[in-house]
Amino acid sequence: MKYDKGNVFYKIINKEISSDILLEGEHFVAFRDVRPKAPVHILVVPRGGYVDWRDFSTHASAEEIAGFCRGIAEVIDFAGLNKGGYRLISNSGEFGQQEVFHMHVHILGDVTVK
Ligand code: AMP
Repeated sequence: MKYDKGNVFYKIINKEISSDILLEGEHFVAFRDVRPKAPVHILVVPRGGYVDWRDFSTHASAEEIAGFCRGIAEVIDFAGLNKGGYRLISNSGEFGQQEVFHMHVHILGDVTVK
């Protein structure tokens, strides 16, 4: 599938629509999911236009991949999830029930868990 700039995460990254952005870096933007499925539910997206995890890990530069992965670690610390733990999920395609075709990782956690 070809990347389509009409997707909602492209618009969030480019500040064309508002969102609850928590952290940003050179290679990532992190914001709260509008329909949270856990007490803490954050989405982390790369700035570059990649459809899904495979597209990103195949075509992004080493700097983008490292910056994105380190960004996820920053968000985990920022949200206070390192102690209690968290889940990372990246849905892809029909089986993965992907809704937004800009690669993203869901961080799910609960800060009340010790
Ligand atoms: P998926 O593509 O299945 O991994 O899911 C996309 C996620 O994006 C869903 O959990 C939605 O609740 C979330 N979402 C959709 N639109 C927005 C938005 N404008 N701001 C924040 N989260 C969104």
